[in-house]
Amino acid sequence: MAISPPPVSTMAPQLDLPARVARLGDLAYNLWWSWHEPARALFRGLNPILWEACDQNPVPFLRRVGRPRLEEAAVDPAFLAAYDDVLGAFDAMLNARETWVTRHEPLLAAKTLAYFSAEFGLHRALPIYSGGLGVLAGDHMKEASDLGLPVVGVSLLYRQGYLRQRLDASGWQQDVTSDFGHDDEPVTRAQGPDGEPLLVEVPMDGLPAPLRLAVWQVMVGRVPIYLMDADIDGNPDWARTISGRLYGGDKEHRLRQEIVLGIGGVRALRALGIAPDYWHANEGHAAFHLLERVREHVAGGSTFDQAAARVRATTIFTSHTPVPAGHDVFSPEQMDRYFGGFWGGLGLDRGAFLALGQHAESHDGFNLTALSLRLAGHRNAVSERHGEITRDMWHEIWPGVSPAVVPITSITNGVHLSTWTSPRITSLLDEHLAAGWRERIDDTLTWEPVRQIPEVDFWKAHQRAKQDLIDLLDERARQRWAAGGFDPSQVVTAGPFLDRKALLVGFARRFATYKRATLLFTDIDRLAAILNHPEYPVQIVFAGKAHPADDGGKRMIQEIAHRARDPRLGGRVAFAEDYDMGLAGALVSGVDVWLNNPRAPLEASGTSGMKAAANGVPNLSILDGWWSEGWHPDNSNGWGIEPAPLSGEEQDRAEADAIYHLLETAVVPLYYARDADGVPQAWCRLAREAIRTVSPAFSARRMVVEYIHRLYHPAAGAS
Ligand SMILES: *Cc1c(COP(=O)(O)O)cnc(C)c1O
Repeated sequence: MAISPPPVSTMAPQLDLPARVARLGDLAYNLWWSWHEPARALFRGLNPILWEACDQNPVPFLRRVGRPRLEEAAVDPAFLAAYDDVLGAFDAMLNARETWVTRHEPLLAAKTLAYFSAEFGLHRALPIYSGGLGVLAGDHMKEASDLGLPVVGVSLLYRQGYLRQRLDASGWQQDVTSDFGHDDEPVTRAQGPDGEPLLVEVPMDGLPAPLRLAVWQVMVGRVPIYLMDADIDGNPDWARTISGRLYGGDKEHRLRQEIVLGIGGVRALRALGIAPDYWHANEGHAAFHLLERVREHVAGGSTFDQAAARVRATTIFTSHTPVPAGHDVFSPEQMDRYFGGFWGGLGLDRGAFLALGQHAESHDGFNLTALSLRLAGHRNAVSERHGEITRDMWHEIWPGVSPAVVPITSITNGVHLSTWTSPRITSLLDEHLAAGWRERIDDTLTWEPVRQIPEVDFWKAHQRAKQDLIDLLDERARQRWAAGGFDPSQVVTAGPFLDRKALLVGFARRFATYKRATLLFTDIDRLAAILNHPEYPVQIVFAGKAHPADDGGKRMIQEIAHRARDPRLGGRVAFAEDYDMGLAGALVSGVDVWLNNPRAPLEASGTSGMKAAANGVPNLSILDGWWSEGWHPDNSNGWGIEPAPLSGEEQDRAEADAIYHLLETAVVPLYYARDADGVPQAWCRLAREAIRTVSPAFSARRMVVEYIHRLYHPAAGAS
């Protein structure tokens, strides 16, 4: 039974470890450790300061921790007991013959899914993600591993990762590239059947010969993800940068990357001897994999229509954005250059080929979402509301079909709870939930005992998480200061005045305009009164990156940086630089309230609010995306704001008013209503409700099981 995908040999990592603890190397090269606290504790225990200095990345950590320390650990009975336990669990996971999938979906246990995504957010040590889309893909893979679903992921190895963010003295975002060292990545080079490092080729406009790609592998529990890499000898210099940076560069660059992902990805799987039975394209970036699969069938003797029907039956496509600019569209001229030699192999002429990407709003452009909807037979959006919008947006692809019955369903996103619930809260759950609760994490009954967690215990755990966040922000500010070129007003912005005792609101997301990060500054006097209340002070921490080409987003960040320095706001506004998964984990567990105020209905789902709620951090958010499904209208698990039926500035003002009003009359009073021991009893009950109601319903477990039942099962059955 194919529980894990076919074994693939990889180049052995070079780590010099004492024999008794040599398998620390195996652990380091499988990101399984990142969602298993005992495994993290094992590394951390060797040298906690160095562990942090290495960004909690065990690969450079093991190289730097030093042979003497490892020799010492190799004879330390306590370390060895923990080591044996962790490796026992690791091996049990890798070798399990029985999993959720073998028990509940035996059909899928014998099939392999290929999951294509332009980004995967797995851990901050592997910066091949920019935001929510990637983190969702990463959570999907971790959950697939937990369930025992045979999956292989496909993406690119961006050697320069996504841009790191620094603000200059004027508050303007600087986009800093950071090469991660080849030796520090938890990835290994994939080998072909002949034992040589694998190379695959894709046609590329502007090159006399095909572009050659190396293939790397990162292990995520039981799931391998294969990463295409153009940065190899033999490719011309300009072509080596194709896979350099996630979303860096122009449309041409993007098109090349998507050819590498889609066409290169299918060819890499073939060269590895992996034969997926069904396929999932995460967003339109992966659309070219569909064309390559059609081409394969046509080369095998099918007509285009037969080939397309087979591809359709076995393909799932997920669309993630209701924002028109979020969909890739390429010009016919670009398509001619890159695909002029390709469409003949599909059995199509130019007109029929270009028609595959047609969509009225894209004029004569080639729209990858339209292509994906036409060639994937199982299609979904990522929340109920987003489903309605998506059906409406794309209904012309089904002429004569009314939007309500357009064949695009929705599966609401979820988050991988073992990744996103802080150890502070997880230890409370271990104490109160029934043994084996992780196996039933999507069952609401599992979470009933959360109601019995004593308020004071929750409060203590949460206060620790809040202190962890404040310590982290202080340390980051100190490091920036120590590196030089950081002026004192920037130190102020970085959050050194944040106070564990004062209510802390968190707002962190990409600085896309529709997310309205600066909405809270609509009425400065009113905000100042809320923040500076003598008895009930409030503070806000912001984080998030703007796309390098988005000056509008950068201006919003600059406005926040300026507000943070404005004495009228009392030193109670901070901006934490360089939002990544590490900072996200600290924020979603360490703030008291999670604020989200997008302009509805542009938030397809949103996931950071789910992470916050799972940590007992209630949401104060516009009812859009997931929150319209997650919020309890009696405000018992957070606060929901109906979008105002207005537009533009009027809408912004009305919704800002609603947020101020809720802060003044509900959030702040509840937070500061304390018992004799200083515990906000009613607040803690609401926080518990956030955990109890949101964790099961918005877990990645619920999400992946829903994909399995509703989309994967039929797609795999058609193979
Ligand atoms: C969860 C997460 C996101 C997505 O959050 P949204 O609520 O969808 O904005 C983005 N970036 C990082 C680093 C995350 O961890």
